[in-house]
Amino acid sequence: MPACLRGRVLGDDTARTESRYDGYMLVPGKLQAQFGESQALNLVAAERRDRRLKTGDRRGQTAPITKKMLDLLIIGAGPAGISAAWEAKKAGIQYLVVEKGLIGNTIYNYPVGLTVFSTPNELEFREGDLDPAREKPTREELLSYYVRFVIENDLNVNTEETVLSVKRTSDGFQVRSDKGEYSAASLLFASGAMDFPRKLDVPGEDLPKVSHHFRETYPWVRRNALVIGGGNSAGEAALFLADEGAETTLAIFREDWENTDPKQGCIKYWVKNPLEEQLQKRCLKLFFLGKVLEIKEDKVVLESEDGRVCELENDVVFVLIGSDADLTLLTSLGVETEEGKHGNVPVYDDDTFETNVPGIFVAGHFTRHRHIKPAIEAPRKIIPAVQARMKTTAAKAD
Ligand SMILES: Cc1cc2nc3c(=O)[nH]c(=O)nc-3n(C[C@H](O)[C@H](O)[C@H](O)COP(=O)(O)OP(=O)(O)OC[C@H]3O[C@@H](n4cnc5c(N)ncnc54)[C@H](O)[C@@H]3O)c2cc1C
Repeated sequence: MPACLRGRVLGDDTARTESRYDGYMLVPGKLQAQFGESQALNLVAAERRDRRLKTGDRRGQTAPITKKMLDLLIIGAGPAGISAAWEAKKAGIQYLVVEKGLIGNTIYNYPVGLTVFSTPNELEFREGDLDPAREKPTREELLSYYVRFVIENDLNVNTEETVLSVKRTSDGFQVRSDKGEYSAASLLFASGAMDFPRKLDVPGEDLPKVSHHFRETYPWVRRNALVIGGGNSAGEAALFLADEGAETTLAIFREDWENTDPKQGCIKYWVKNPLEEQLQKRCLKLFFLGKVLEIKEDKVVLESEDGRVCELENDVVFVLIGSDADLTLLTSLGVETEEGKHGNVPVYDDDTFETNVPGIFVAGHFTRHRHIKPAIEAPRKIIPAVQARMKTTAAKAD
C-alpha cells in the first residue's frame, strides 16, 4: 500500500480508529455511502430543477404570497436564515424565506466528508438537538440536521428561488424573485458571503480544468493537482487531495504558510500539522509563490518567491483564495457599508442588527461575524426588533 494512503483506505478499520487530527477526519466506512449520496443529491436536485422549469411545478415550495403583506421576508436559508425563520415562527410573525439554492446551501457545498471545526453547541438551533457520531459533525450530519429542522418545524422556506431586486415602497419593500413578487414590511438579508469567489485574473483562469471551489478528491487520484491559496479552504483541499493519492502541490505565499496567528487567519493547526506530515512523506509539495502568471491546458506558469519562472504540469487547478458577498441589493436600497476585516460589510446596530435603512436587517457571514454561532444568535435580537417596528407602525396607523 502506498505510504500516503496507509490507514486511509475505504473500509480499512485501522483508519477508522486512527484519529489522525482533531476536527477534520474522513470516516472511511461512511465515506463510500456519503460519496454516493452526494452524487445522488446532485442528480435529484438537477432533475427537480429541470422538471420545474419544464412544467412550472412549484411542489416543495411554500405558495407564493404575492398579494398579502409579509411582516418579514428573509433572503437566504443558511444557519442565519433558518434561525430567523424559527424565531419568527415562534413569535407568530408572517414570514417567508427565499433561498436561491438548497436548504443550507453553503454547507451543501462544503467538501464531501468534511468534519467541521465547530462543536454541536455552536451549530444547533436548540440545545442538545445535534447529535453527531463523533465530537464534531461531518458536512452530511450538519446538513441533514438543518434540512430536518426546516421540515420538522414546517418552516416557510422556498428553495431554488433567487431574489433579484428590492424596491422601497410607502409601507415597506417590494421584492422580486425569479419566481414571484412579494411585499414585506421588513427585510432580513441572511445571504452569506459565498457569491463571488475571488479570481486571480490571469490568462487561462476560465479553462475547464480550473475550479474556484473544492468539492471532492476522488476524480483526482493519481492526477496532478495544484491548489493555489493560503487559508483553511486551500489547506483542507490540499490535505484531502494528498491524503487520497493525488499528486498535490500547494502554491502558497511563504507568509501564509509561516503564519501561526489564528487572529490573522492562519491555517488551523489541525490542518497544518497533517499537511506537514504529508510534506515529510513526500505526498505533498509546497511551492512558495511570487505570483501566478498563466494557466495553460496542461500546465501552470508560476513565478516563485525569488523571481524564478516555473512551469508545473497539472490536470486540475483549485484557486481557493476566498469569496466575497454580493452587497449590491443592499447598497441599491441605500444601506451604508464600511471596510471590515475581510472586505466591505454593512453598517448596522449591534443590538438590533438593523441597518441605517429602517426595516432592513442583516445577519450572518457577510456582517462582522464569520461563523455559524453568531449567525444563529443574531435573529434572537432581530425578531424582537421586527416586532417592535410592527407595534410602532400599528400605533401610527391607529
Ligand atoms: C468549507 C467550510 C467549512 C466551514 N466550517 C465552519 C465551521 O466549522 N464552523 C463555523 O462556524 N463556520 C464554518 N464555516 C463558515 C460557515 O459556513 C458560515 O459562517 C455560515 O454558512 C454562515 O451562515 P449564513 O446563514 O450567514 O450564510 P450562508 O450559510 O452562506 O447562507 C446564505 C444563503 O443565502 C443564499 N442566497 C444568497 N443570495 C441570495 C439571493 N439573492 N436570493 C436567495 N438566496 C440567496 C445562499 O444560497 C445561501 O444558502 C465554514 C465555511 C466553509 C466554506
